[in-house]
Amino acid sequence: MTDKEQMSLFDITPSEIPLVELPHAEGAAEALPAKKTSRSSKNISPAISNTVPVSEQFASLDALREVACNCQKCPLAPTRTNVVVERGDRNAKIMIIGEAPGEQEDLSGLPFVGKSGQLLDKILESVGFDIAKDVYVCNTVKCRPPNNRVPTPVETNTCKPYLLEQIRLIDPKIILLTGATSLKSILAEKLAITKVRGQWYEWEGRLVMPIFHPSYLLRNQSREQGSPKWLTWQDVKAIKAKYLELMGADSVVGDDEEF
Ligand code: URA
Repeated sequence: MTDKEQMSLFDITPSEIPLVELPHAEGAAEALPAKKTSRSSKNISPAISNTVPVSEQFASLDALREVACNCQKCPLAPTRTNVVVERGDRNAKIMIIGEAPGEQEDLSGLPFVGKSGQLLDKILESVGFDIAKDVYVCNTVKCRPPNNRVPTPVETNTCKPYLLEQIRLIDPKIILLTGATSLKSILAEKLAITKVRGQWYEWEGRLVMPIFHPSYLLRNQSREQGSPKWLTWQDVKAIKAKYLELMGADSVVGDDEEF
């Protein structure tokens, strides 16, 4: 399959395009060289601790789910329909962390099932990932913020122990941070998604790559070289190549044809 054919696999029909336009992010077209940082790097300074005290750890994901589903710790609890904890395979080696549930996710109790999620699935499937087996999907914040606003620092920090425990219990080799909220929660306050997407970071012994949020791609339809969609296509090919490398497979991903 050519790059063009693969790219079209995660294309969307005009009826799926949201009406609201986001401003084009400055620097989105920049392709920065891959950078690997270590846990001790000055660049990576999380907002709050990246470890949950042993006494507060969960014995299993089912135990975590049960507690999360009854959580009343932050202001999002009274307005939610469902707590949105996870979807995908709990044995997956790739974990994808989004921002927060939207309307569809709040109604269904599953992350990334609306338009953004459909595009995310297409992106992953375009390089041959099996959505049911290869990825585990969750969010930084487990309850929907009213009107889909960005979660506040209080909400993000209150929910962070659940996220950290999901990471510990899933034990993924690769973590993909979709968009600014998960980037901020896991890697650092000061990193701009447009500057760091596509770069590999080492975080708590795992490989982490920030990527554009699919809702941003829904609002930026161009597939021109350097566009957010084109950059994401480069990122997902790099992710698949790294995944195959880590899994000990020797397949090659995609080809160099322009699209
Ligand atoms: N956006 C997210 O970040 N997460 C979802 O689950 C849905 C949309």
